[in-house]
Amino acid sequence: MGMNGQLNLDFGNKFASLPDDKKWQVVCEHLASKGLDSSLEVWLRQIKPLSLSGDKFVFAASSSFAKEWIEKRYLSLLKETLSQFEGNEVEVELRVVPEKRDKEKTPSKRKTQTGLPLNPRYTFETFVVGPSNRFAYSSAKAVSASPGSSYNPLFIYGGVGLGKTHLMQAIGNSILENFDANVMYVSGEYFTTQYIEALKDGKISSFRKKFRSVDIWLLDDIQFIADKERTTEEFFHTFNTLYEMGKQIVICSDRAPSQLQLFHPRVRSRLESGVIAGIRPPDFETRLAILEKKLEMEKASLPQEVLLYIAKVIQSNIRALEGALVKLLAWTSINNTLPSLPLAQEVIEDYIEKKEAKANVGIQDIISAISKYFGISPRTLRGKRKDKKVLLPRQICMYLCRELTPASVTEIAKVLGRTHPAVLNGYNRIKEQIERDKELASIIQKIISLLPSPFEVR
Ligand code: ADP
Ligand code: MG
Repeated sequence: MGMNGQLNLDFGNKFASLPDDKKWQVVCEHLASKGLDSSLEVWLRQIKPLSLSGDKFVFAASSSFAKEWIEKRYLSLLKETLSQFEGNEVEVELRVVPEKRDKEKTPSKRKTQTGLPLNPRYTFETFVVGPSNRFAYSSAKAVSASPGSSYNPLFIYGGVGLGKTHLMQAIGNSILENFDANVMYVSGEYFTTQYIEALKDGKISSFRKKFRSVDIWLLDDIQFIADKERTTEEFFHTFNTLYEMGKQIVICSDRAPSQLQLFHPRVRSRLESGVIAGIRPPDFETRLAILEKKLEMEKASLPQEVLLYIAKVIQSNIRALEGALVKLLAWTSINNTLPSLPLAQEVIEDYIEKKEAKANVGIQDIISAISKYFGISPRTLRGKRKDKKVLLPRQICMYLCRELTPASVTEIAKVLGRTHPAVLNGYNRIKEQIERDKELASIIQKIISLLPSPFEVR
């Protein structure tokens, strides 16, 4: 993993001298900006830095369960990230330090949350509603207003990073606030691990008993268990038990029930028996609104053209959208200045989905940039001349067409009046040469700067 370019250098000499809490904040922001997985953030909140200097960094974990889970899943990531920021190899140790309980605040007996922890940030208030998620949102609201009634089970599905977990946890958070209920949140992966462990230790009956007391069952990422024989059976059992007791069940998945590879097809009709709500990728206005909401929550700001740019180029994944924003905010706080548009483009480069950025530039754009830069006409470029004055620009043209447009080699060959192997050959020549030849690299950079930027609406 890399602290990709720019930011890395900027932190380089400053990080080691920051106070512990600032260090931890920077690391958490960095990890969040990578959008590795949505529960990482919740787990990071379960540990507090005790000492972040020397060659061993020590953290306090709130329970031995938290300690074990974090050690199993995130220890190497933490170690690697901290070492990288610090600039030398560090060890990471977790110690169990139970949090002091506020006696007066002891929750009532029935109000409990079991399974994996909920992220307090995932609420209905922080969820931006648009045409792509309106139905899922209002279904989730209905569930939290009267759990266990008509929207049962609620099945939410959609692609990665579109807000399924957020909505599901918003249901959990809202119910915990308004009802005396036992809310259990588990991921398909967690359910599987727990089940396998129970099998191994011969504790199936106590595993099942745990679910008997659940009022609201939130099962995230069911696709993880759908193709596993025994785990699906156990899921089916749990589902039926709770359903018959009139408990609310909410399930999230990366695809519709009909698309799940179910080991037991009879499970499908169960999944489809309630309300099914799909979430689609957000439109431009929703993406912009999400960025603005997030800034408002962080009490931060960024130049409007930068926001428009992010909303324009990051289209299909809200996690990436947030990641880009967080990375820019980290950059802003470290450098104490607002980023310009070109700088922002550089900082968030890794978040931009290649195809979308590419789709904005066409072969003709590249041909006209090349002819402008070298002062040769498009006709000459496409013509028969093979002297160096024309050959190099033509090869650069082939290279850029392949790198920057979605066009196939065949299409490029056709437009340039060349053969398929000739285009491949030209492309490879430049690709190899650009590694060693600084002058060529800078020429190509200048040609790219003549192209319409992906920011321009066309
Ligand atoms: P999924 O579970 O669908 O993969 P998540 O619920 O983890 O996606 O969402 C990814 C990130 O995007 C989360 O940080 C979440 O808060 C944010 N997010 C998703 N949809 C919205 C929305 N409509 N409004 C605000 N934030 C959102
Ligand atoms: Mg999720």
